[in-house]
Amino acid sequence: MKQTPQDPEPREHLLREIEQLARRALFGTISETYRTCGTPGCRCHRKGPKHGPHLYISYQGQKGKTTGYYVPKVIQAEVRASIEAWSQLQDRLRRLV
Ligand SMILES: [Zn+2]
Repeated sequence: MKQTPQDPEPREHLLREIEQLARRALFGTISETYRTCGTPGCRCHRKGPKHGPHLYISYQGQKGKTTGYYVPKVIQAEVRASIEAWSQLQDRLRRLV
């Protein structure tokens, strides 16, 4: 690994960023689904909007099987940020090599 004093992005800085991102990074693909509920006569069963978005995270689990889970509303923002942290993490790792 060559390092020059003029390096615009010192390795140490990158490593610190990677450590912080890795603490909250979450692997997966976000999809949003809209669903009908079980309440008879609810707007969602007629022309009204369905319920959602329900955040669904899918990812490749062991043996390459795609699996996933729904995210409770109270932590949706956090989960979105964590997924974003994952892609930032990939970006920093590529810059490291
Ligand atoms: Zn409904």
